[in-house]
Amino acid sequence: MCPNGLCIIHDIDPALLQSIRDVGYPFIYRRWMRHDGVEVACAQEDGLFEKGMDGKEKEELQSIGIRRWKLQKALYDAAVAAGIPVHFGKRIEKVTVREEDGLVECKFADDSAPCLAKVVFGADGVKSKIRESIVGTSKDPEYTGVSCLMGVAEMPRPVRGICFPSSSTTKCHMCTYPTGDNETVFQIYFPTPRENPDSWGLLSEEEGRKECSELAVRLRSDGWDEALIAPLDKASTVLRVGLRARDPLEEWVSGPIALLGDAAHPPVPYIGQGAQMAIEDAGIAAHLMKDYCIGKDGEFDAKGFPKAMEIYQLMRINRTRQVLGLSKGLGKTQQDRADSWLYNIYREWQIRLQVLFYKTLPCMFPGARYNFLEDLKANSPETEVAAA
Ligand SMILES: Cc1cc2nc3c(=O)[nH]c(=O)nc-3n(C[C@H](O)[C@H](O)[C@H](O)COP(=O)(O)OP(=O)(O)OC[C@H]3O[C@@H](n4cnc5c(N)ncnc54)[C@H](O)[C@@H]3O)c2cc1C
Repeated sequence: MCPNGLCIIHDIDPALLQSIRDVGYPFIYRRWMRHDGVEVACAQEDGLFEKGMDGKEKEELQSIGIRRWKLQKALYDAAVAAGIPVHFGKRIEKVTVREEDGLVECKFADDSAPCLAKVVFGADGVKSKIRESIVGTSKDPEYTGVSCLMGVAEMPRPVRGICFPSSSTTKCHMCTYPTGDNETVFQIYFPTPRENPDSWGLLSEEEGRKECSELAVRLRSDGWDEALIAPLDKASTVLRVGLRARDPLEEWVSGPIALLGDAAHPPVPYIGQGAQMAIEDAGIAAHLMKDYCIGKDGEFDAKGFPKAMEIYQLMRINRTRQVLGLSKGLGKTQQDRADSWLYNIYREWQIRLQVLFYKTLPCMFPGARYNFLEDLKANSPETEVAAA
């Protein structure tokens, strides 16, 4: 998780941020490497911050590695503590707006009774059913031609931080980072032109072990550094995913229904901002709902929803397009490094010089340094934030 996502969590509740940090693992370094262990450049992770930020703020917002389930558990516990009911196993099949009263009817896949809602946020991920209900299947994300083998291993990283090796021999690139003193996550991205969804998903223990040990043999013969291969030998919870993506939709809102997160803007993951964008969406939407949809009596009033969502959409489409576009660009440079030795020489020098001058890759700044309160002030002059 990056400073921009953590900043939103802090705004929701500093105690929630603390509980997330408690189960995450702060990065100290961000490194670019070759597969054989040669370090191209190493940046301090606090280079992501604006100059002049105070020490406490830096400590609270420094990037962390965190397992997805730990983040989900922290969010779930906070929701329950706030009295927000969370239901599991209820898959939305279709949403429709009723003509007679404008309420949204949500139908579930299990044929249980539909429920009615004043407003609905579709945060149902890359294969969103709610998006389908709004814009049809023509806007479904497309396969990018890249698959990722990812897993977690019980072992420390030799250097505490996130690391991006690229391999000219295996023609692929990798990302690896610690999520605990003795826990390392790895993601290896392979060009895989043929889309094969049947082979995607969580692998059984046996399949995962077999796939990782075969890959380790191949990487050894391709000259990879043992420290990069080691997590494969100890991998558990192995997944294979095909990356699907698309530019953010142009319409995220239809009457009382709005999209949020991957449902609106499925990312490519190379810049580590996909979930951060979803968190930003939620933080901005929450502020706008508070400002436009809560009456003087403190009750929710859907009359202000169109205005809130008009601003939400305006703010979020530009923002997600910019950051997720940078992610696409960064992923391409990593794969191009693997594919062309000439490009690799150029890119490695570019990385070194950028780290020297900017303290990290400057393409990280728009994501990490986002000041959402400033953005809210600029776009929604009547909000409480602006008055404060
Ligand atoms: C390999 C890889 C690495 C990544 N690394 C990073 C990273 O380092 N940093 C980062 O910020 N992002 C990263 N991302 C991106 C990140 O995982 C996503 O952008 C993020 O999870 C999006 O959150 P979301 O809530 O919109 O969707 P999801 O996390 O997909 O959640 C959607 C939820 O909706 C539920 N759901 C789905 N369909 C229905 C339905 N019909 N009815 C009800 N519920 C439904 C699902 O069960 C799920 O709980 C990575 C992605 C990949 C593939």
